[in-house]
Amino acid sequence: MAGYNELVSIQRFNIQSLKFISQNGNELLTVQSSDSSFFNSNYRFSRSNHEPVEFIQIREEEGPMVKVMEEEGLRISFELSIRSSENKRDLTNLTFIHGSSMQEIERLITREFSTDANFQNHHQVNLVGDVSFALNEDERLIQWDWEYSPYNSLYYYSSGCPNYICFAEYDKRLNRLVPLQTFQFWLVESEQDSPPATPSFSLRLAEDGTTSPEVPEQQPGINAAEQNPIQSPPLSNVNPAAREVDQTEPEDGPLFRATILNFERTTHEMRMAMKKLIKRTEQLAQSHGMLYICHKEFVDAFERAAKINPPAFKPFLDYYYHCCAKSMDNLHIDRAHLLRNSLIEPLRRIYDNDIKNAYSKKKDFEETSRDYYTSLTRWLSKSEKVSSADKAKESKFSAKRRDFELSRFDYYSYMQDINGGRKGQEVLSALTSFAASDYNLIHSSMAEIDSSRPNIIMLQDVVNEANKEFLLLRAEREERRRLLETSSRELDDQEAEIAAQAYKAKIGQDTAAKQGLLLAFSKPNSELQMVSKAGWHKYWVVLDHGKICEYSNWKQSLELHEEPIDLLMATVRIPQSFPRKFCFELITPQLRRVYQATSKTEMHSWVEAIQYAISESISLKGRRHSASEDSTYNKYESTSTIGKALQRVASVTSPGRYSGSGGDSKEKKTQKPISLSKAVKELQISDQYCADCRSSSRVEWCAINYPAVLCIDCSGIHRSLGTHVSKVRSLDLDKLSGETVELLRATGNQMINEIYEAGLGEPNAKSIETHEERASFIKDKYVHKVYFRAIVESDVNIAFFNAVERGDLKKVIQCIGQDADVNYRSAIVVSLRKGNYLIAELLSLNGAFLNFNEATMDTLPARAQAYLMSRWSN
Ligand SMILES: [Zn+2]
Repeated sequence: MAGYNELVSIQRFNIQSLKFISQNGNELLTVQSSDSSFFNSNYRFSRSNHEPVEFIQIREEEGPMVKVMEEEGLRISFELSIRSSENKRDLTNLTFIHGSSMQEIERLITREFSTDANFQNHHQVNLVGDVSFALNEDERLIQWDWEYSPYNSLYYYSSGCPNYICFAEYDKRLNRLVPLQTFQFWLVESEQDSPPATPSFSLRLAEDGTTSPEVPEQQPGINAAEQNPIQSPPLSNVNPAAREVDQTEPEDGPLFRATILNFERTTHEMRMAMKKLIKRTEQLAQSHGMLYICHKEFVDAFERAAKINPPAFKPFLDYYYHCCAKSMDNLHIDRAHLLRNSLIEPLRRIYDNDIKNAYSKKKDFEETSRDYYTSLTRWLSKSEKVSSADKAKESKFSAKRRDFELSRFDYYSYMQDINGGRKGQEVLSALTSFAASDYNLIHSSMAEIDSSRPNIIMLQDVVNEANKEFLLLRAEREERRRLLETSSRELDDQEAEIAAQAYKAKIGQDTAAKQGLLLAFSKPNSELQMVSKAGWHKYWVVLDHGKICEYSNWKQSLELHEEPIDLLMATVRIPQSFPRKFCFELITPQLRRVYQATSKTEMHSWVEAIQYAISESISLKGRRHSASEDSTYNKYESTSTIGKALQRVASVTSPGRYSGSGGDSKEKKTQKPISLSKAVKELQISDQYCADCRSSSRVEWCAINYPAVLCIDCSGIHRSLGTHVSKVRSLDLDKLSGETVELLRATGNQMINEIYEAGLGEPNAKSIETHEERASFIKDKYVHKVYFRAIVESDVNIAFFNAVERGDLKKVIQCIGQDADVNYRSAIVVSLRKGNYLIAELLSLNGAFLNFNEATMDTLPARAQAYLMSRWSN
């Protein structure tokens, strides 16, 4: 067997021998180091019964490993030889490590050791101890026993499992474990143990045909059996009813013994089968536990992905996985528990308490039996003359006889119980109750998962629809890309002219509105801008409603660079000679400003747009807002599918899109920036002033979940409170849904402050001059709700639900302020059914769930369904 086992042999340490010993003391395998040179030790393998030693090879690089049969329990007795060397005498913290692979051993020695302070308590680690040498001593042989315990891993094969063991010592100087020697073996579960020892009795038929036990010195295989073979009655297979009849045990005799023999054989088989069953069930339970953990991690990973890319991942979670993740979790963990409690536990109890005792009971019975028959022989050999000594002997004999009969009775009852009797009934009863619970568990999980079916069908429809739109979008994108390719070449004048004409035609249909990137000098009116190369900055410029607004820092957040430029008295022109290309000049009574466009086409389109805006601001002042109102409604339609949501994203991320080739006219309208600040203010006088500081300057922002119209400064503070407090939007730059706009127009700051500043007393009493005062006031007002006056209702959720039913918008806002549960009794469904979209919008802005199953969706009007779909795609 030389060279079969890979060994890392170090001079100081050697495993001299290993003995694999079963629980009942049988030596299964002995491994002996054949070489004591401490170098390249080879091993001799031998089995006590002289059967051949088997090996198995699972990894090419590691060589074959010896097979060891497992029986009940396993102990390995090591004989370790340790030498003191010149530079290292004592051996500190000799440690034994057990694992499923070399890699695992390495991981335990390195990573686990350095991270786990209780390394020695790890269930795969045993501390052997220190070995110190006396002065004149330089070699020591120590004995150490290890009780085999399986490693906690799912790493097993049907035929057994690999086991790697390693001895290591602690190196104090390096603070690490240094491996000394390893050994590996393959542990095979004993599928078929050798059958129990051959029957330990013999019998002989008497000449007259009656049986007489021929006693007790059980010589296995006595030839009597050959002369009178006894056919075993097929008791092991009789049905329970047949067994019921056989209530009394037969007299001790061939029938009794044969019956018992049969019982013993089936008991042995049963014992093996149960042991295997329990083990497999444990593995199954463990796998379910593992699945539960993996599944949790799977869901976590999904949720992280959904946070980063909601359009791609969130629908999957919302429409399907959140419905069934819980039931899948429960299925795994509950099934693990169920297997443990309702299957493994009762089976193990029966196995441990009853079946495992079979051998010892058999031994007891046999001893009593032998004892009895010996004394029977002795007693019969006495003469019939009765002496007083004989009397005592007789009573002693009858005591023996009684003992034997009792033992026989007990053993027979025990065997009957195990072989389909009471114990069989217990097993069947345990299995039946497990079956019922298991069925219920799986059935209820499936029912929960089944409830998500309508959602999946709806999602499929939406996605199929969106896929079509996405194909269109892709075609359009390719078209745009081609345009970009051609435009990267210098556009000649004629082309620019055509583009400008096209643009003019377009703005002829719409109101003047354009936004895009322009370069300008940081300060208006500066003469330097003519010559200097430095000082030019990129601004996001929005032309709308007769004003030009410049936003700096637009890559992070929009900040108004200067006061908006009113175009009422302005002129725009392209300067004849200017040191920079694509420039145009804007002149108003107050200032003179030069802008640089990014291309000639852009320059022309800006000039056209501004010229149009100038003429419009002179002639069409009164009709400004009607267009923006209409478009907010179209907006609502455009968001009804994922595809359109994607289009919106695309339009936001490509500023030049507006002047590029557009889609149909409806789409153009929806992508046009909408100015709302004025429209809202016009309707609600209180909205002309900031809800928080009452400033009238730059009141162009909104916290849509209240909703409160805010100035730019207060909106900044709202934004800093987080979206769970305030969802801040720009009235002019953000694309708000039709319902949001309607909601803004229906409420107004006055209503919001009647609720949120009810306890403030005189408005504007608070001084909010500084940034700190502003911040603390807003925090008090919305987070701590210092000025909020609670409505006196016993249950705010009921009040909330009633308000939704009545369509009482103000009361609903009040209840939300008082932390009513917006999902209480699916209030949003009620509002949608009643066609009250403002309240629905308010609830949705405050976090109401919008995912309903098909049955609920069917009860809603078409517009409500479309509304839900559009909110979902957001
Ligand atoms: Zn303000």
